[in-house]
Amino acid sequence: MRLTAADLTIRSVDGPMQSESPGAKTPSALSIAGSDPTGGAGIQADLQVFQRFGVHGMAVITALTVQDSEKVYQVLPSFPSVVLDQLRTLLRDLRPGAVKIGMLATDDVVRNVMLALPQLQPGTPIVIDPVLAASDRSRLLERRAIGSLQALLEGATLVTPNLHEAAELTERDTSNRRGCQEAAVVLLEEFGCKAALIKGGHRDGAPDDLLARRLEDGSIEIDWLAGERIEAGPVHGTGCALSSAIAALLARGRPLESAVAEARSFVAHGLAHATPLGGGARFLGSA
Ligand code: PLP
Repeated sequence: MRLTAADLTIRSVDGPMQSESPGAKTPSALSIAGSDPTGGAGIQADLQVFQRFGVHGMAVITALTVQDSEKVYQVLPSFPSVVLDQLRTLLRDLRPGAVKIGMLATDDVVRNVMLALPQLQPGTPIVIDPVLAASDRSRLLERRAIGSLQALLEGATLVTPNLHEAAELTERDTSNRRGCQEAAVVLLEEFGCKAALIKGGHRDGAPDDLLARRLEDGSIEIDWLAGERIEAGPVHGTGCALSSAIAALLARGRPLESAVAEARSFVAHGLAHATPLGGGARFLGSA
């Protein structure tokens, strides 16, 4: 079943989603990500997605960007100490039901985010979209931050790299299925994430995603999730939307597999209805 945005809004008011997080009156999620003035990616997109899923959105901005629908022109990282102060102040008072981490820009920002995470309530799901570069190849995380980003993955509920990000993080060749499986094992075994979703959208052929999970008996389960190629041309911010939809659903108490499945349908629906708002990449649609 494919849900429309309208279905999701109605379900969030009085439908079955209400009972998924017993005791939590208003589910909430925190996005730690960069600002995209177009609204198609980054914090602006995350907050729109949280709202679609009936989740109150909190946001800590890691960088400003100058960009349009074609290109990123400038990245201005936030002061790392201010990112940390915002997180510490926020988490002293509010308890997000899930956290999504996206663009982090610099090594210092990554390290300061890492310092704040122990303040989360134990067991808070953390979804990390390890944003390294924009589609126009502009760097959104400085290269020297890779080691810190790998360290940030320790204990994360889910990491959602695309093929390039998985290759850079794990130094594996992700151009074939076997290499993706090896990369997933590295993400779980070496870097300590509980699960990895390696997105196949940049692959030639079927854009299947790989979901790897650590099971309770300690073994790793790998599933290939079939994807359908939707010929939408370049669409901006799909990775941000996917990871924030998963975080929103986890904040509502959904189990991981079901959150991943629904978030993938949500993005597929957005791709099928992608809309041109500017002269470059299209934006996910909600029709
Ligand atoms: N700007 C920000 C703030 C982002 O977080 C991202 C992606 O995560 C982008 C731009 C790039 O989006 P795209 O890959 O669609 O170019």
